[in-house]
Amino acid sequence: MKIAVVGAGAMGSLFGALLAEAGNEVWLNDVWAEHVNAINQNGLEIEREGKVRKVKVHAVRDAGKIGDAELVIVFVKSTQTGEAAQIAGDLAGMGGMVLTLQNGMGNADTIAEVVEPARVLAGTTSHGATLLGPGSIRHAGTGPTTIGVWNRTKEGFDRAVRFAQLFNGAGIACEAVEDARVPIWNKLLINVGINAITALTAIKNGEILDLEVTRNLSCAAVEEAMVVARGRGISVTEDMVEHVLAVAKATAANRSSMGQDVDNGRQTEIRAINGFIVREGRDLGLKTPVNWTLTALIETLEKHY
Ligand code: NAD
Repeated sequence: MKIAVVGAGAMGSLFGALLAEAGNEVWLNDVWAEHVNAINQNGLEIEREGKVRKVKVHAVRDAGKIGDAELVIVFVKSTQTGEAAQIAGDLAGMGGMVLTLQNGMGNADTIAEVVEPARVLAGTTSHGATLLGPGSIRHAGTGPTTIGVWNRTKEGFDRAVRFAQLFNGAGIACEAVEDARVPIWNKLLINVGINAITALTAIKNGEILDLEVTRNLSCAAVEEAMVVARGRGISVTEDMVEHVLAVAKATAANRSSMGQDVDNGRQTEIRAINGFIVREGRDLGLKTPVNWTLTALIETLEKHY
């Protein structure tokens, strides 16, 4: 299959490389010239559990050189989704599918403004990756990937099954679901309870559990977001608050992605995470003071890097 990846940072490079290793024709598209040049000159270097391998894959800065693709994967940060959606729409042409596995909420809707919703696939992944430098990434962890077609039709589900098979064939354990909103909301709730708090306080995920006051803050943010999810008709996992604390424990030594963004003076995905809860709450007439405060503090921090 011909596959294009728009946003070939840590995750885009990883998924592109795994799909290329399975024999697909993969094109990575990124605005970062050094990274694109390094991949074309030396291949993409992947470090996994101390071992390094190289994968040959096409990389371009100009997406116009790729032509139509059957599958386009959007893996930019959520702050760039609008721009990436336009590129993805062009690459998908009249019949291709566009997939987002980005964190946060709103990415699939942004893509669906450009590509008809029946051709938008959305989901989540528990794979983890880090950029080490131009042309080089670390595959930090594996886990399940879930995808579904955004318009939630029977035909859509059949399509999702076909693409899940493609991923499974590339060693990316993937399940097709009828309603991708459920796993996306469940992952969003984890990010709501961990990301902004760790980013603001410079702590690692596990340190959320150290003090009762920090645990309570995390639980309050998640409980607020669960009310918003239910207001939108999403049946989120009942014991989500405990689950978020369990994830913080299981990833105790990790610095969250938002934490890393703040450490490096980059724009964060706050608007697609806690900020999304605030906007949805406002729409539903629900108060979200904890998520509002976390969003306001991160936005203030971003402005004063
Ligand atoms: P990243 O910053 O490593 O990669 C994003 C890439 O997009 C960068 O290389 C950047 O140059 C490129 N880019 C920006 N604007 C572009 C444009 N207009 N056209 C083409 N390329 C563009 O980010 P990441 O860690 O790979 O994360 C991507 C998404 O996946 C985020 O939503 C993140 O939350 C999510 N995610 C990340 C992980 C992880 O472990 N890193 C895990 C699950 C989900």
